This record gives sequence, structure tokens and C-alpha cells, in this order.
Amino acid sequence: MLRGKTAVVTGASRGIGRAIAECFAKNGANIAIIYAGNEAAAKEIVEKIAESGVEAESYKCDVSSFSETKETVDKILQRFGGVDILVNNAGVVKDSLMLKMSEQDFDSVLSVNLKGAFNMIKHLFPQFARRRKGRIINISSVVGICGNAGQANYAAAKSGIIGLTKSVAKELASRGVTCNAIAPGFIKTDMTDSLPENIKDRVLDQIPMKRMGLAEEIASLALFLASDNAGYITGEVIKADGGLCI
Ligand code: NAP
Repeated sequence: MLRGKTAVVTGASRGIGRAIAECFAKNGANIAIIYAGNEAAAKEIVEKIAESGVEAESYKCDVSSFSETKETVDKILQRFGGVDILVNNAGVVKDSLMLKMSEQDFDSVLSVNLKGAFNMIKHLFPQFARRRKGRIINISSVVGICGNAGQANYAAAKSGIIGLTKSVAKELASRGVTCNAIAPGFIKTDMTDSLPENIKDRVLDQIPMKRMGLAEEIASLALFLASDNAGYITGEVIKADGGLCI
């Protein structure tokens, strides 16, 4: 489905990003993986991906840094020649109620989750516009649509991703480049594994499908959006949440 294409996936050393990278590789794409610090996990996924017979390389890069992302994008363009698909997936949480939320926790969550996506799109924008084709997929969250007590910083960042997605979609539509967002619900990864059991049970109770989603279920939606089959879809926010936010 993606044979001969090159995809950049941020936050691909673990969780949803890793599942997307593996799924795209199985479907023929060469993969550039961006991770924050977990080198062992990044190396492991690169080796696994290479088994699919595609090219893969990992890059340690803090997506919140404008200069680091510029250097990394330049290296990726040199290595792969061009980028067809960008998946902005890197994300962090620093949860607390507003009364207790520090300015630093607000700023750092916005920097990684929202500015990180801006940085990557900004540096790849000229090549997407020049090549007149491409796919940008941003990972938002249902929390960015519905809000969530204890996650004002994260929800603000994920809502911001939706505004960014729609604006970039309008700017790049005439160039044949689509930009869409995926809003996952409660997905089983390190991010949710760290939640206390009583909170997990409370969320599960609110999900009509009564289960957590799998990273692979987000990856299959990303694969569709990245494929030629999704050529007329842009500026959309697609939920994958077992009905949580109906
Ligand atoms: P995860 O398992 O915690 O993995 C986070 C990934 O992001 C890791 O690869 C990590 O790299 C990378 N990362 C973190 N900070 C970074 C930075 N500053 N620069 C570059 N990479 C960075 O998270 P996940 O659950 O898979 O979540 C992936 C995305 O889906 C996030 O945007 C998250 O907000 C969103 N999402 C998740 C859920 C859910 O229920 N899990 C629901 C809705 C939305 P290292 O391994 O090097 O640390």
C-alpha cells in the first residue's frame, strides 16, 4: 500500500508511534523514527522494521526544539531523498488539577504535544509544497474534543493540534497534500499503563465497548489516511475511541 514511500514517525520508539511505524513498514514504506531518549527501544524497532525489507533509521530528537527538529529533518531528507508521510505522534502527559498545575507543566506539555507538531510541519512544509503530494497525520486525542478534569494542559495541546491540522489542511490542499488528525480514546500503552487501577476502571466503565483500544487499531487508521485511498479526505479529525466520546 505504501511501497516506495518514506514516512517520518515521531515518538516511534514505543506505543502508538511504534505500531504505526511497524504497520507502515509492513506495507512497504521506508521509515525514519524519531524518539526522545529511549535508544535501546529505538534500535530494536529499527532492526525489526528492517526485517520487512525496507530502509529504517532512528533519530534522537526533542520535537519541542525548533533547531533540533530542523537538523533532524535535514538529515532525514539527505538520507531518504524526500518525505511522503509525516506522522506527528510524540506526546507526553503531566496530569494534575488546575489548582495544582504548575506553569512549567503547562508549558512543557504544550511544547512537546503541540509545538512539536508545528516544528515538524514547518520544516517539512516547503518540500511537501514543492513535491505536490504527501500526507500529514497528527495524533490528537478525544480529550482535545471533550476536555478532561486533570488534563487542562494536555487537552489544550490536543485541541491545538486540531486547529493546526485544519489550517495546514487548507494551506496545502491545492498542492495535493492532505492533513488529518486522529483522536484516540483510551489506548493500551506505557502512557495509560502508569494510571492507577481505580482510574482505569472508572474510564473503562465509561467506554461503550468496555475495553481499551490497541495501538495496532490506531495504526490501521493511520495506514488508511496515509494511503492513496484517502486522497479526498483532508482537515478531518477521526475518533478511534470505542464510543467514549459519542
Ligand atoms: P507513549 O507510549 O508514552 O510513547 C511516547 C513516545 O513519544 C515515545 O516514543 C517517546 O520517546 C516519544 N516522545 C516523548 N517526548 C518526546 C519528545 N520531546 N521528543 C520526541 N519524542 C518524544 O505514548 P502513547 O500512548 O503511544 O501516545 C502516543 C501519542 O498518542 C501521544 O501524542 C499521545 O498523546 C496520543 N494519545 C495516546 C492515548 C493513549 O491512551 N495512549 C490516547 C490519546 C492520544 P522515548 O521512548 O524516547 O521516551
